[in-house]
Amino acid sequence: MSTTLERETARPYYEPVGDEVATFTAAYRQRMPILLKGPTGCGKTRFVEAMAHQLGRPLVTVSCHDDLTAADLVGRYLLRGGETEWVDGPLTRAVRTGAICYLDEVVEARQDTTVVLHPLADHRRRLPLERLGTDIVADPRFGLVVSYNPGYQSVLKDLKDSTRQRMVAITFDYPDPELEQSIIVAESGVGAETASELVRLGHAIRRLETGTLREVASTRVLISTARLITEGLPARAAARAAVAGPLTDDPVAARGLCELIEAYVSSPQS
Ligand code: ADP
Repeated sequence: MSTTLERETARPYYEPVGDEVATFTAAYRQRMPILLKGPTGCGKTRFVEAMAHQLGRPLVTVSCHDDLTAADLVGRYLLRGGETEWVDGPLTRAVRTGAICYLDEVVEARQDTTVVLHPLADHRRRLPLERLGTDIVADPRFGLVVSYNPGYQSVLKDLKDSTRQRMVAITFDYPDPELEQSIIVAESGVGAETASELVRLGHAIRRLETGTLREVASTRVLISTARLITEGLPARAAARAAVAGPLTDDPVAARGLCELIEAYVSSPQS
């Protein structure tokens, strides 16, 4: 499990896409948990970082996976110098200190893990610490944010309805072309024209009706391509490395992506 506890000093760069800032602020002020839905690489994590900074709260991020246990989130007894000592998990730390806790890709976690979220997510705002035989009331500044990608979850891994209905949902999609172009320029330093070609490539890939791609081209992979270009890599080679390679292992699908790259990205030297 990777977790980070951070208080941003510099304001993270974030371009609002819709009414997500107002919705997040209202839900946080009302102490309602927030559900961010959307494909990977469309700005959810950056948004939470920006909101934590704007609200002046530290951010605890947990990347969820299918081995994540309730103890990973809540805490456990560890052996220290011959003694057992209770060590808070990231969720407990956030609950105690009034941080914003961001559980990224929460559907990846086992359902028994997400059960600890129920009493936290409703009006009780309590976290049961079963091993300690107690539960703690969340600091009033604590905020719970979870994300998931509706595109590739199985029905089994779906969030429980009772969890979902406690949440305020904010739906993300890729930014519109003009905004995506500015984001690519700002994040990588490439010129506007190159960024515009990459946006058009991204849109062409997003229009593909294909079952072989698990994910289409995200803003993230377009930024990665642009960053390789700023290092002097020819644009088509950069797109093959940062778009086609990561998106598929299937040779036929890869060939299709490379053809789109040839069509949309001008790179005489590649
Ligand atoms: P997600 O959490 O949805 O997988 P990220 O927040 O990691 O996606 O976004 C991927 C990258 O795309 C970010 O690191 C950032 O560079 C960029 N990005 C996407 N949307 C925005 C936005 N609205 N404002 C600024 N940067 C963005």
